[in-house]
Amino acid sequence: MSFQNTLEFAQKLDNEDSLGKYRDEFHFPKIEGKQVIYFTGNSLGLQPKSAQRFVNDIMTDWKDLAVEGHFHSDKPWWDYHERLAEPLAKIVGAKPSEVTVMNTLSVNLHLLMVSFYKPTEKRFKILCEEKAFPSDQYMLNSQVKFHGLDPDEAIVTVNKRAGENFWRTEDVIAKIKEVGDELALVLIGGVNYYNGQVFDMETITKAGKQIGANVGWDLAHGAGNIELKLHEWDVDFAAWCSYKYMNSGPGNASGVFINERYLNRKDITRFEGWWGTKKENRFLMKPEFEPMENADAWQISNAPVLALAPYLASLEMFEEVGMDAIIAKRNKIVAYLEFVLHEIDDEVDDSFEIITPQDRGCQLSVFLHGQGRSLFDYLMKNGVITDWREPNVIRLAPAPLYCSYEDMYRFGQILKKGILAN
Ligand SMILES: *Cc1c(COP(=O)(O)O)cnc(C)c1O
Repeated sequence: MSFQNTLEFAQKLDNEDSLGKYRDEFHFPKIEGKQVIYFTGNSLGLQPKSAQRFVNDIMTDWKDLAVEGHFHSDKPWWDYHERLAEPLAKIVGAKPSEVTVMNTLSVNLHLLMVSFYKPTEKRFKILCEEKAFPSDQYMLNSQVKFHGLDPDEAIVTVNKRAGENFWRTEDVIAKIKEVGDELALVLIGGVNYYNGQVFDMETITKAGKQIGANVGWDLAHGAGNIELKLHEWDVDFAAWCSYKYMNSGPGNASGVFINERYLNRKDITRFEGWWGTKKENRFLMKPEFEPMENADAWQISNAPVLALAPYLASLEMFEEVGMDAIIAKRNKIVAYLEFVLHEIDDEVDDSFEIITPQDRGCQLSVFLHGQGRSLFDYLMKNGVITDWREPNVIRLAPAPLYCSYEDMYRFGQILKKGILAN
């Protein structure tokens, strides 16, 4: 499709957009009284207007029913989390039994490593991408140390090639083969937070499994953004946060995928608590742990219902729209943003470059030549919320549920003025 960098053309795309109406289902922040252009749905998604009602329902039930709310509210709290499994399973390509919601992301990856990183003398190494998200680096380091191992020896990174901004699948595979039967675990961010690259999870998972390692994915930037087929790809485990593309609210609960091959098995170790036991027996307070038959077996504490409420509100919207439509719009709006960026770049004489490779989801990372932070600040003052990563990158994620083509056009105009003024 050939694009045009004009307001009329952008508005025409909006008029043809079947997801356009969902923009009104979200609260937008305002700067100087004007609704912002929001590019940070990859960091904190906007609030769905329905979220407040879902939270208020819990507050009202708590007020009116108190402890009885566990069983007698409209959506009983004791199995409230079960409502999230089915819509989430569709989003990540899993069976509902393979999905649960609990805790937060970094905590869950630690808990999953209790089950899926069990180093032996021979097989003890973890493979990840170089410069993984800091929390992931801290997690892996501390896991390795927890087992009495040396991170320098046990953690292997796959690097980008000199002069390139992305990882090559063949390099990941080569590294997996090189580490071979010393490799215990592959754990990579499926969509890289910095350059927006989508890893070839199917191929990498297969390669990792072939040499006998477990393979897990941190899908913080993947869930609700890209097509996932965790079950079909035979991934061992995965986890994601819900506050980025999934619009569930700051610091909110994390989703977990555990391949069904690990369900209902006595030989799987994990850290356990009463919410992982068979729900029929949960209140019998029996001494023995009888795990749930599904991924809920990994739950430890009773569910944070107030946190799950806005997540459920958001999932209802995902359920209504479906990932196919979200991805179709995402492809188009990201392509339009890319087009606008190239147009502006030509007009201002090569001032920046897009470092995101073609294997991408919703995010374009833009490296600014000699512009820097003052441009970022200019954008913010002029109603465009982006985010800034050292050394000189702004990340732009036009979330398809609430960003418009007109936003992309207007952003281009503001960017051009900003570059010329800085
Ligand atoms: C956002 C993000 C996290 C955040 O972890 P929390 O435990 O939710 O704070 C972790 N890993 C990656 C790759 C992320 O992008």
